[in-house]
Amino acid sequence: MKRISILGATGSIGQSTVDLIARAPDRYTVEAVTGGRNIALLAHDARRLNARVAVTAHDDLLDDLRTALEGSGIAASAGRGALLEAAARPVDWVMSAIVGSAGLEPGLAAVDTGATLALANKESLVTAGPILLERGRRAGATILPVDSEHSGIFQALRGEDMASVERVIITASGGAFRDRSRDALASVTVAEALQHPNWSMGQRITIDSASMFNKAMEMIETKEFFGIAPDRIEAVIHPQSIIHALVAHCDGGVIAHMGAPDMRHAIGYALHWPERDDLPVERLDLVKLGQLSFSEADPERFRALGLARQVMDQGGLAGAVFNAAKERALDHFMAGRASFLQMDDLVAGALDRMMGRGGLDRVEMTLETVSHADQVTRQAVDDMLRIATS
Ligand code: NDP
Repeated sequence: MKRISILGATGSIGQSTVDLIARAPDRYTVEAVTGGRNIALLAHDARRLNARVAVTAHDDLLDDLRTALEGSGIAASAGRGALLEAAARPVDWVMSAIVGSAGLEPGLAAVDTGATLALANKESLVTAGPILLERGRRAGATILPVDSEHSGIFQALRGEDMASVERVIITASGGAFRDRSRDALASVTVAEALQHPNWSMGQRITIDSASMFNKAMEMIETKEFFGIAPDRIEAVIHPQSIIHALVAHCDGGVIAHMGAPDMRHAIGYALHWPERDDLPVERLDLVKLGQLSFSEADPERFRALGLARQVMDQGGLAGAVFNAAKERALDHFMAGRASFLQMDDLVAGALDRMMGRGGLDRVEMTLETVSHADQVTRQAVDDMLRIATS
């Protein structure tokens, strides 16, 4: 029996993970499931998977969770400490699917146990990749990518010599606005940004797809996880989302990873790795697909991609600043306080401020400095927005 914990079980990736685990109850025992505000779903899944403990990140929801679990024998707990305790429980495999930088410390607590970490929380790699990877190495943990592009790269690299890799190309669907000019993006709404053409995902990543901040995060993630030089990492628009990533070798050969846009493939690959097993995902029918198309991911139109290059070149705390600025700018857009294109300005402004005058470019990366960079950047974004709108 494989012992499993799912961090962020109530989210989009969490639910796909629950689906896979629930299909094979004789193969898995579930230790912990964690969530945030969706107590009904958390309790439902804890019961469905017969978990030992269910944890909400919010102290004020403990009574609700206890009530929802009454009679089940499943322990309930709440708050940041409880979340970290749940992540640190000894298991074989942990899904890291909390959204945002809140997922970093639980992921670290999980790798410290030496477990296999299935990493969907890309923010961990963007903000503190070297720390996560080093802690994993020290504890003998295995970290497997769950982002579809990175799972694709990982699969395409199997058995290959990294020295022969010339380029890595990740694809982008282009999100909700792939056919709009930059001018036409000035007045788009949150509801429009949430209309992703191919993938069904959490709200925040869906809007990040429309703004291309998601692809920018993934370029940085590629550099951090695979140790590939920034000038060898490319992004290309591929509206069908069938090819997720391509690895180009020095002999001109290119290995592409293809599959239906269903996150259960990447999650299931990480679940069964190093083996492969049947997964309930649609099989590709190339004839039905007919054609696959590609176009340039224009850095003029999608400024996030240029900012990703800046972050990869700067290294150090630039990733923490970039992520915090992007998360805060997104909060403001979702709350109607900032326009869609203002998110680009806020993130670019935050990088200039914090990595230049702010002096964070001279600060060594530790967990403390990452957390400090996160806090001061969020404040800087709020200040810039206040000035811009006053
Ligand atoms: P969702 O928003 O759907 O789910 C997020 C999960 O995190 C929920 O369980 C939520 O709880 C929980 N959560 C939210 N805030 C906190 C907090 N402060 N502390 C603890 N838990 C919290 O996100 P997704 O599933 O879409 O994404 C999860 C991660 O996976 C992200 O890092 C994303 O970038 C990455 N990813 C997602 C993909 C996708 O297809 N969705 C693809 C590739 C990567 P609740 O809902 O109960 O409040």
